[in-house]
Amino acid sequence: MAIVGHFIGGKHVAGTSGRTADVYQPMTGEVRGQVALASAAEVRAAVENAKAAQPAWAQTNPQRRARVMMRFLELIQRDNDSIAELLAREHGKTIPDAKGDIQRGVEVVEFAAGIPHLMKGEYTDSAGPGIDIYSMRQPLGVVAGITPFNFPAMIPMWKFAPAIACGNAFILKPSERDPGVPLRLAELMIEAGLPPGILNVVNGDKVAVDAILDNPDIEAVGFVGSTPIAEYVYTRATQHGKRAHCFGGAKNHMIIMPDADMDQAVDAVIGAGYGSAGQRCMAISVAVPVGEATADAFIKKLAPRVEALKIGPSTDMGADFGPLVTKEAVQRVKNYIDVGTQEGAKLVVDGRGFKMQGYEKGFYIGGSLFDNVTKDMRIYKEEIFGPVLATVRAKDFAEGLKLANDHEYGNGVAIFTRDGGVAREFCARVKVGMVGVNTPIPVPLAYYTFGGWKRSGFGDLNQHGPDSVRFYTRTKTVTSRWPATNERGAEFVIPTMK
Ligand code: NAD
Repeated sequence: MAIVGHFIGGKHVAGTSGRTADVYQPMTGEVRGQVALASAAEVRAAVENAKAAQPAWAQTNPQRRARVMMRFLELIQRDNDSIAELLAREHGKTIPDAKGDIQRGVEVVEFAAGIPHLMKGEYTDSAGPGIDIYSMRQPLGVVAGITPFNFPAMIPMWKFAPAIACGNAFILKPSERDPGVPLRLAELMIEAGLPPGILNVVNGDKVAVDAILDNPDIEAVGFVGSTPIAEYVYTRATQHGKRAHCFGGAKNHMIIMPDADMDQAVDAVIGAGYGSAGQRCMAISVAVPVGEATADAFIKKLAPRVEALKIGPSTDMGADFGPLVTKEAVQRVKNYIDVGTQEGAKLVVDGRGFKMQGYEKGFYIGGSLFDNVTKDMRIYKEEIFGPVLATVRAKDFAEGLKLANDHEYGNGVAIFTRDGGVAREFCARVKVGMVGVNTPIPVPLAYYTFGGWKRSGFGDLNQHGPDSVRFYTRTKTVTSRWPATNERGAEFVIPTMK
């Protein structure tokens, strides 16, 4: 069976640690192959390669760096079908959803292709006699990204595209559960003209992550994954003096006001709550209908839709969602449903018994819907990361807003209403990083930034958009004076502008 290795210095290299992990095909439950788990020495070798290649890349003019991005965009379109199929087979999401995963990454590469403009500094002419001031952005050097299983195309591109466009060399440590697509992206970057050593993929687990965090030659670390690991990575990286931004888990609320168009709200929640089997950090996992009548109407319309969800193998183009990523993930979600019923929530639709005919060993679970969930319950407080929606009934707008504000996570949130004043007040007062008005998955487009608040994000700068250029560069400010040749005289006081 094939063992997937690493991609260092522009070529595939076999792992040497002797440690591997199984890579599954969730739709059948079969093992597809193994992935090598890097040792600290293998991470060091990748960093050495990156360090040697980076200065010349930083010297390459930004238009040439942008052209690599543009060529990469052509190649990813050329290979779109095969990448989407590989992604669907390793992750479990459906092929159309896999194409969306690729596309949302592509949009950040398009943004990064604007790097000649994005990296421009500022200039002040004649700030003093013969004095001009200008600022420039310079790349950091070698930087790293550690990414989760749930978007194996999009999140690696969110990380490496802006970093590389800015002139850095990049070490990518993707999820060990679906390593195929990140490696494919690295191959395409080389085919697009990227010099070897600028994008390196090191597969692995905690050993590789720790080796990245402790390596003094890595200047910055970007992480996306669960909150405990995000916090750990942030703490350890910053202890070593690195720049870090680390994005974690979520519990995204959708507030449904009594005046909302209920059909549109139900359409929105069924896609946002159950798409990709709920394995999105921006999935809606809590519905908050405001008022008993709204809640009754909501459950009445939503329950038959959840029962009718079409679950299928990843290659079924008509399926609403496919399997979960692992057998353990299925067990974890089932446990949460058990816990919810024990805690006293009303299980309106139970997906635990779902079996996929012809794919009995696949990692499937049906959609589940809870009503009468309360804020003290674990199924409300914790991230389930599966096709399970918790409904918490709120008596009024203030209570719905307070729920979202008091929750420890603050990634995404949505409000459905026809009242502009209510929507505006909600946007102003909600303590969440990404807000949707009548739109359930408010993932900002590539030229805005992406990031959650509270325990959904650690660090100051967000991902993609203008923040990514700030994150992957440091600013230098030059004060330049060209005095007349006959000017003389020493100054002993701090220079000021009089
Ligand atoms: P995860 O935290 O298990 O893994 C993420 C990365 O950390 C992987 O590369 C993994 O190898 C590494 N890792 C795992 N355990 C580690 C450890 N003990 N020490 C060091 N490194 C370790 O997350 P996941 O299951 O791959 O992804 C799902 C999670 O990611 C969910 O919580 C989801 O909400 C979150 N997520 C967040 C965002 C966001 O932008 N906020 C986006 C996507 C996913």
